[in-house]
Amino acid sequence: MATNRTFTMIKPDAVEAGNIGGITKMIEEAGFKIVAMKYTRLSPEIAGKFYEVHSERPFYGELCSYMSSGPIVAAILEKDNAVEDFRKLIGATNPADAAEGTIRKIYATSISANAVHGSDSDENAEIEGNFYFSELERH
Ligand code: UDP
Ligand code: MG
Repeated sequence: MATNRTFTMIKPDAVEAGNIGGITKMIEEAGFKIVAMKYTRLSPEIAGKFYEVHSERPFYGELCSYMSSGPIVAAILEKDNAVEDFRKLIGATNPADAAEGTIRKIYATSISANAVHGSDSDENAEIEGNFYFSELERH
């Protein structure tokens, strides 16, 4: 995966609330091209693997059960400066701290149920995209 890509998930709270369309619209209007997209549901084991980097953090157990509580939408996005620009578009982890107009400010309900995931580095964008999508799917 080139460095002009990032990886996102629309999390279970946002899917359940019917916000796939609204969030996808914001992503596209911000100039991101969707190059792969998948509606799926994680088992607690797979969620645990995806969030392995957080396994020592106090919220890990809650995070894994929340992320497997309902369907999600995973996607690979392309844009110049994708990782940094997407983190700006989604806003702070805690929606209470997220800037006006960001996806989390508009759609997130709490620090855990915060509507979307966004990769934090080019390296993790590639790892996370590869976790969900085969080589064929992420051409
Ligand atoms: N999270 C949580 N409680 C916290 C911090 C994070 O439940 O105190 C959850 C939240 O869903 C967050 C995810 O764990 O999106 C990963 O945390 P990270 O610090 O990587 O935040 P992000 O990169 O998603 O903004
Ligand atoms: Mg993170």
